[in-house]
Amino acid sequence: MEKLQNYIGGTLQAPVGNQYLDNYEPATGQVYSLIPRSDADDVAAAVAAAEEAFPAWSALSNAERSKHLMAISNRIAERLDELALAESRDNGKPFKLAQAVDIPRARDNFAFFATAILHQEDEFHNMGAKGFNYTLRQPLGSVACISPWNLPLYLFSWKIAPALASGNCVVAKPSEVTPYTAYLLSQICIEVGFPAGVLNIVHGLGAEAGQALVENDTVKAISFTGGTTTGARIASIAAPKFKKMSLELGGKNPNIIFDDCDLERAVRISTRAAFANQGQICLCGSRIFIQRGIYEQFKNAFLERVKGLKVGPPQEESSRMGAVVSQAHMEKILSYIDLAKEEGGNILHGGKRVQMEAPYEGGYYLEPTVIEGLDYTCRTNQEEIFGPVVTLTPFDTEEEALTMANSTEYGLACTIFTQDLNKAHRVARDIHSGIVWINDWLVRDLRTPFGGVKNSGVGREGGFEALKFFTEAKNVCFNY
Ligand code: NDP
Repeated sequence: MEKLQNYIGGTLQAPVGNQYLDNYEPATGQVYSLIPRSDADDVAAAVAAAEEAFPAWSALSNAERSKHLMAISNRIAERLDELALAESRDNGKPFKLAQAVDIPRARDNFAFFATAILHQEDEFHNMGAKGFNYTLRQPLGSVACISPWNLPLYLFSWKIAPALASGNCVVAKPSEVTPYTAYLLSQICIEVGFPAGVLNIVHGLGAEAGQALVENDTVKAISFTGGTTTGARIASIAAPKFKKMSLELGGKNPNIIFDDCDLERAVRISTRAAFANQGQICLCGSRIFIQRGIYEQFKNAFLERVKGLKVGPPQEESSRMGAVVSQAHMEKILSYIDLAKEEGGNILHGGKRVQMEAPYEGGYYLEPTVIEGLDYTCRTNQEEIFGPVVTLTPFDTEEEALTMANSTEYGLACTIFTQDLNKAHRVARDIHSGIVWINDWLVRDLRTPFGGVKNSGVGREGGFEALKFFTEAKNVCFNY
């Protein structure tokens, strides 16, 4: 069976302790490769390699660093289909989705930050006759990037690219649940002659390799995307060490449908927002609030569309939804569906595991599930499920919609459907979230700030926000 390897100091290496973990294929439920079970020794070796590479990497001009990052981007483009297939196999997502979204986005993340640093301007504050200030933005040193399993290479590159572009060296840990495309990225780095030690990839469990990375005193900053509980744990370790932290955490995003919306568009986009990637995107709209006047009309049209979402093997052309990422995650989602029933929810569609034929009979397939009749304060409507489960709730007034939408501990993203310009911008202003879409969902401009409020995180990624995070500002004041 194939054994993945760590990428440390420019070479592929077995873990120091020679221990491996099983890597499951969600579509079949079978183990198909082995992952290094790295420990603190592997992390220490990776940090040492990063420290050694830092002086030379940070001394390169932006143009030189840009060329190295563009080489990675171009190689991702050349190996796009192969990477998409690997992502689909490792994660359970439809191949078509990985081919159209995940891998192109990973390619674009490298290209975006490779070129962003060519256009960077520095700050200058003039004090007139007295003198002036200029601000140097200097790289931090060795930084940690820790990413989740839902958009594996996409989110991995979203962190690594700005960290490297701004002159840092990186030790990155992909989720142990979906390590494969990060492993292919290490091969790509070797293929394009990326400088040794600048990027290091250590595989393993969050509680072991991840935690060792967070605890490492040499690591200056932690860019983390994952669950809120894990984020709190990381913060409790890193804060007393005064490390910089960017935490992109969970969500329970509202999707507010006003009765003056373009109904066909609202139904079409809400379906995608609820079930794309089997509902395993932090931005998925899992609570749909519908103004009472169009509640029945929306519900019927939505259900009609959801019935057309074919659940099937991720590599089959006709599959619109693949498998969820793991058995444990499937069981968690099913337990939330049971909870919804206990809380008085009425399952309008789905609610069960889908049993496939051989060789997919052990795969983790779930029906897209639509529930109504729940109070907005119940646990089903407050806790992150992170699966293909959506609730429908009617509202009467704009004020009521805002109260319901803002009622959770999360505040990542929100979608608003209305043709009333004033109302759209008013709700966008008053909603508690870091990202708002009006009449659309998941439209991303990589220059814009990305992140959440409340328990959805601290800090912002994206564009110059990310480049700022990965640098330290130093003000130099000159007096004539
Ligand atoms: P986890 O929090 O379980 O894991 C995220 C990463 O952290 C993984 O690489 C994990 O490793 C690692 N990790 C776990 N424990 C520790 C630790 N003690 N110290 C250091 N690292 C650790 O999240 P999931 O992978 O389950 O991802 C799903 C979550 O991510 C959802 O809550 C979702 O909302 C959120 N998310 C947020 C996004 C945002 O931008 N706000 C975007 C996408 C997802 P391992 O998996 O190997 O245990």
